[in-house]
Amino acid sequence: MNEDYEKLRSRIAERMWEVFPPMEEEIEHTDVIPKDVMVPALQEVGALGLLVPKEYGGAGLTVTQYLPILADLSRIHGGLRGFVHAHNSSTHVFSMLASEEQKARLLPLAARGEVSFGMGITEPDHGTGADIGTTATRDGEHYVLTGQKWLTTNSDWVRYFIVFCKTDPAAGAAGVSAILMERDAEGLRIDPLPPTLGTRGLQHGHVQMERVRVPIGNRLGREGEGLGLIEEGMELSRVFVAASSLGTAEEALQMSLARARSRETFGQPIGTRQAVQRYLAEMATDVLALRSMLENTAARIDAGHRVPAEASACKLFGLEAVCRVTDRALLVFGGIGFTRKFPIERMLRDARANVVEEGPPAIQHLVIARTMLMGYYFEGSIFDTPYTRAVTATV
Ligand SMILES: Cc1cc2nc3c(=O)[nH]c(=O)nc-3n(C[C@H](O)[C@H](O)[C@H](O)COP(=O)(O)OP(=O)(O)OC[C@H]3O[C@@H](n4cnc5c(N)ncnc54)[C@H](O)[C@@H]3O)c2cc1C
Repeated sequence: MNEDYEKLRSRIAERMWEVFPPMEEEIEHTDVIPKDVMVPALQEVGALGLLVPKEYGGAGLTVTQYLPILADLSRIHGGLRGFVHAHNSSTHVFSMLASEEQKARLLPLAARGEVSFGMGITEPDHGTGADIGTTATRDGEHYVLTGQKWLTTNSDWVRYFIVFCKTDPAAGAAGVSAILMERDAEGLRIDPLPPTLGTRGLQHGHVQMERVRVPIGNRLGREGEGLGLIEEGMELSRVFVAASSLGTAEEALQMSLARARSRETFGQPIGTRQAVQRYLAEMATDVLALRSMLENTAARIDAGHRVPAEASACKLFGLEAVCRVTDRALLVFGGIGFTRKFPIERMLRDARANVVEEGPPAIQHLVIARTMLMGYYFEGSIFDTPYTRAVTATV
């Protein structure tokens, strides 16, 4: 965390606190984030190339450096957080599998926010992963894509969709590939979905492909590598969503502390009441636990480890924590918290995006349990020990 990094972090937070809150009411009413205001501001402070390596024009941040910035943005507005998260995460996924030529052509543009990618994983008629229904059939030097994706974040803005599709339907999980599809391709239709509960202003579109021809050169990685890419990319994205939960939770806690000091009943600040103190203490406990989980997991990622179980645990605990904390914030604020006088009700709605985004709780349960049952047990902690009854006795 050097001086340059601290400057970058403050530059982004200060500019976004200036730009975003005045647009909040308009975003609520129109369900559109004025991109002509937000995007230039994000470009000016370099927030759209945070994970892109320096040689491609990005900031080249480590995960440990990136998470606090994402948490800062989550304090401001869920739509802003969602926009930046989707852009930076999809750019990262692109760079995981792209060839040198693809990276040299597109990463510098992505780092400046002149090009963006949309993640085409979720489908209306199929499950994620091996169940994907979108197909890409070879026809000479092209793939022909047919199928549907939805909930694709930033669908109104991205230039390319990273479409996860079956290039070999008979091969199941090993037949999924990632293909880059331009938004103006013939046969592609993008419709907006109805408005969302929270993260207002973000668009999560319905992408429909009817025999869309895409050059073979647009494939990312080898055929059949798509599912591994989803799993590895999501591992990181789940940690990012957990950091987003942390930012919203911290903001809700700090607003609740301020309210507990200023609001008086029966001549005393409500913060003197044990009932309110308990809410604040429980909120703080969630925040502290999530901070620690994220710090540890980020350090392991930066040290080069894969962290499927830790990432899913962060995501799972984060979504529960941010929902609990924003619910408690509503209790601290009382009835006025249910109105738009304070951003508490919006934060409570924004928090709910983190529940399903990057996989619902059931998927996190599955990943954590499966990883442990396959023999992995959490490493890198002062509590690690080989002395356990489970390895010496039949249990
Ligand atoms: C704010 C937001 C942004 C998003 N952005 C993107 C994006 O950019 N790109 C993208 O592709 N997707 C995106 N999504 C979609 C998101 O990743 C999915 O909604 C999520 O992974 C759940 O998939 P699903 O909607 O298909 O739910 P379903 O699969 O229909 O799941 C519904 C319920 O059934 C359970 N379930 C389903 N299958 C199983 C199973 N096999 N075993 C056990 N339980 C099961 C689930 O746990 C869940 O509780 C976004 C979603 C949100 C809310």
